[in-house]
Amino acid sequence: MSRSFTPPDAAIRLTGLRKTYAASGEAPAKEALKGVDLVVPRGSIFGLLGPNGAGKSTLINILAGLVNKTAGRVEIWGFDQDVNPRQSRAAIGVMPQELVIDPFLTPRASLEVQAGLYAVPKHDRWTDEILELVGLSDQANSYSRHLSGGMKRRLLLAKALVHRPRILVLDEPTAGVDIALRDMLWTNVRKLNAQGMTVILTTHYLQEAEEMCDEIAIINHGAKIVQEPTGHLLARAGSKTLLIDPGPWTGALPPLPPGVETQRRDGRIALTWPMGGIEAHQVIDALRQGGVPMIDVATEEPDLEDVFLTLTRA
Ligand code: ADP
Ligand code: MG
Repeated sequence: MSRSFTPPDAAIRLTGLRKTYAASGEAPAKEALKGVDLVVPRGSIFGLLGPNGAGKSTLINILAGLVNKTAGRVEIWGFDQDVNPRQSRAAIGVMPQELVIDPFLTPRASLEVQAGLYAVPKHDRWTDEILELVGLSDQANSYSRHLSGGMKRRLLLAKALVHRPRILVLDEPTAGVDIALRDMLWTNVRKLNAQGMTVILTTHYLQEAEEMCDEIAIINHGAKIVQEPTGHLLARAGSKTLLIDPGPWTGALPPLPPGVETQRRDGRIALTWPMGGIEAHQVIDALRQGGVPMIDVATEEPDLEDVFLTLTRA
């Protein structure tokens, strides 16, 4: 029987996902996920945001098939993980948080082994392209144990891509990495997403989720607090403030983008607006055009803790 395949609206659908890690030694049992429902829209760059210990890696590792769930349903690209394990696994590529690398393989060999594990036929392999993409062409034939931490991360991203997954998952890809690596990651995430790949990334940096993601889910203590398009979420989450020092200047402020409120604060001017719509540079441009001198400019925005408080206070 042949059947035409319509791609699912949800790249991932989790229903009542629970995970309790068993007690071991002194450590008591830990309920890491307490019944999470989550839908990741196809084609999005989706942020899973939460502080350390929230349960992000547990969720990701269940998707990756590395951790067994305690209860609930996991659908990846429309395939139930328990019913169609092979198809659901083929649809997803995961770059783990931990640096797990075989030290005795070269990057090229690692990718070939990985392609073998996923049964990618030789003529469908794109090893050299992936090495180029992640910036490892020059190290393709060095032993992985000689790679720097950053290069190991590049290799982990490369490994996640060998089987051309529909969904790419990055677990805290930028925690503790240098600027060059961060830029490589974001450039590639945008590029792969533009080609149709759904991307899920976890982070505990609000700023990063704001910059990168179309939609954000926040989890804390194993429960989902909220899931919304990034703009909506930030608008509810709090406001941003720009503090400028105009020096001795006492003129009148020019017209500013709608929604910006102003206040004098010890010789400085505080400009405040809800997060998620206006960008700081728009406000700065308006001030500059109005001839307001800016001796010093600083911004204030809520951190993740403030956002949790605001969103859970309601
Ligand atoms: P995050 O990635 O958001 O920092 P994790 O999913 O790593 O959170 O951890 C969630 C909770 O589960 C934490 O309290 C953590 O200590 C616990 N945990 C994670 N992995 C294990 C494990 N293998 N055994 C026992 N507890 C674990
Ligand atoms: Mg983690």
